[in-house]
Amino acid sequence: MAEKYAVGVDIGGTTVKLAIIKESGDIVEKWEIETNLENNGSSIPEDIWSSVAKTIKAIGLRSSDLIGIGAGAPGFVDTDTGVVAVAVNIGWKNFALAENLGQLSGLPVVVDNDANIAALGENWLGAGNQAENLIAVTIGTGVGGGIIANGQVINGVNGTAGEIGHITVETDGAPCNCGRNGCLETVASATGIARQAEQYIKSNQETSLLTAYKENGRVTAKDVFEQAKNGDKISEVILERVTDVLGLAIANAATVVNPSKIVIGGGVSKAGDQLLVPLRKAFDKFALPRISGAAEFVTAKLGNDAGVIGAAYLVKQEMRA
Ligand SMILES: [Zn+2]
Repeated sequence: MAEKYAVGVDIGGTTVKLAIIKESGDIVEKWEIETNLENNGSSIPEDIWSSVAKTIKAIGLRSSDLIGIGAGAPGFVDTDTGVVAVAVNIGWKNFALAENLGQLSGLPVVVDNDANIAALGENWLGAGNQAENLIAVTIGTGVGGGIIANGQVINGVNGTAGEIGHITVETDGAPCNCGRNGCLETVASATGIARQAEQYIKSNQETSLLTAYKENGRVTAKDVFEQAKNGDKISEVILERVTDVLGLAIANAATVVNPSKIVIGGGVSKAGDQLLVPLRKAFDKFALPRISGAAEFVTAKLGNDAGVIGAAYLVKQEMRA
């Protein structure tokens, strides 16, 4: 039988990442296009399919060589229907992504949340190493979560399961993108870390973060990690709080899942041990010893490819079922 390929699509607010992937997981072709946010992102499916059609032609494949398209979207996704309920950064509301993309391509289309496909990708070919029970946390602009339990990614009744970033950690905390207050991502995301730093600066605390603030008019999470390394007390206090809150939330999630692997990814994870060592310590403090004893923290390996690889895996899994 001729080799078959899957299309992996990872839709973000700035770019759409695309890849043609062999069933073995080898990436044949990988590229990205700009996300067209005009008219509430209505042309995105067309942009995706015309780009895929052009690419497969260029590498000598036909659409009959494809088993289907897997797509990840940044928002709440009803995985049964492939409808994106809400994707704030794109402007989609009740957007029938699977149906749209399916009509254009004539191929089966499977859609899931972007954090879930990243978890699947890491678990297939990255740091998860095909764990049966895994928690993936992506710490970037927001905090994404994906959970694999008994070998399956968890979606729940309407695609909202595993949204670790929206676990409430402060009942009267800062406002979150989801419309509520005090979610984990208001504290532990890059945005949340920067927000806390600016709060300290505005309350006239003595901190070397002030220099970055004066130079650039803002403070980033990276500044906070850098200044903590230089011994800035306020930066240390912020990171202690971030890792403590994150460790607590992951420990609680781990009580539900009992994972063998906890994969930490996203831009903030580039801080490496400066994040992972205190995070592990906080996790051990809050988790049941039997749970922490069985859980290994690992850094995500696939970087930006996790999404397209996981999306391709989703199709592969669906077509086999
Ligand atoms: Zn939230």
